[in-house]
Amino acid sequence: MTLQKLLSLPVNKWNNSILEQFGGYKMTSEQIRHKENFECYRSRLNGVISPSFSEKRILVIGTGAGSIMCVNLSRQMPAKLTLVDFDEVELHNLSRTVFGYSDIGKKKVDALKERILDANPFISVECIDCDVTKLDSKKMDSLFDVDMIIAGTDSAKAQRFINEKSIYYQVPAIFIGIHRRGRGGRIVLVEPDQACYRCIRPERYEEELEQELDVDGETGSLSSCQFIDTLAMDILISYLEKNENSEFGDKWNQLYNNRNDFEIQLSHKSELSYTWDVIHDSKQHVDENHRSELDGYFSAPRIFTYQVPKHENCLCCNNDIIEIFSE
Ligand SMILES: [Zn+2]
Repeated sequence: MTLQKLLSLPVNKWNNSILEQFGGYKMTSEQIRHKENFECYRSRLNGVISPSFSEKRILVIGTGAGSIMCVNLSRQMPAKLTLVDFDEVELHNLSRTVFGYSDIGKKKVDALKERILDANPFISVECIDCDVTKLDSKKMDSLFDVDMIIAGTDSAKAQRFINEKSIYYQVPAIFIGIHRRGRGGRIVLVEPDQACYRCIRPERYEEELEQELDVDGETGSLSSCQFIDTLAMDILISYLEKNENSEFGDKWNQLYNNRNDFEIQLSHKSELSYTWDVIHDSKQHVDENHRSELDGYFSAPRIFTYQVPKHENCLCCNNDIIEIFSE
């Protein structure tokens, strides 16, 4: 039963076993037994996000730095969030995440589920507390039966895995990367049959990255992380609303359409890969030697958006070699 179907039932047909399907409500029955509550909750979203968004299911892989965004995203009323992470909340996480002191020692997915249901009791939340790459194929099929994947991990290995599953299951994916010390970031949107993560960021597939590149321990301010995460949330909602008559649907058509690579500069020290191309219209990437020259050109914050084409010989998204993903 969908949430919409549940809400169309007379209130006296609701029962706790049905409600359990929608994420295990923590509110009292008096608080939840009214369809009006749902409508009231989303009343400030009318015209901004279409009702169809309340049928969207979103998979979040990596729930640390993106935890605040997950709670904010839940407030926009998607049907379901599936959270995947095997880490526990530690003291040093608290400066940049939604977690609190009482969450220390809990699994991140469980602690985040509590925060999400507190923010929006109408959403369904599923927690998967394991390494996503180690799930069996049946579980994998159900995991990727979603409308959008959020890759909130800095692990190159996990990013490659998500890219390949995004292509195989034909599900769009958004990759969120935050640069050293929060000086900037990079957001990549992969649409089915368009340029994949490998086409857009081939360096993440280089041999030397076989070793984990996990910058989870990297420092960076909360404001920088939230700037980038909030932009990513804006892009992903707009993408999911692209065929709808809504504020976000218009935004996709007018602002983000055909863009799949977003580079954010939040500091005069940020290292942009394309800035030199922008200035000189060349194939060269930015070089340290041009640092002072570039500083004179730009002030933060700035967002550069690009349309990166599909690479015809891509080893991941070229249809002729897609069988490499079958096990
Ligand atoms: Zn590709």
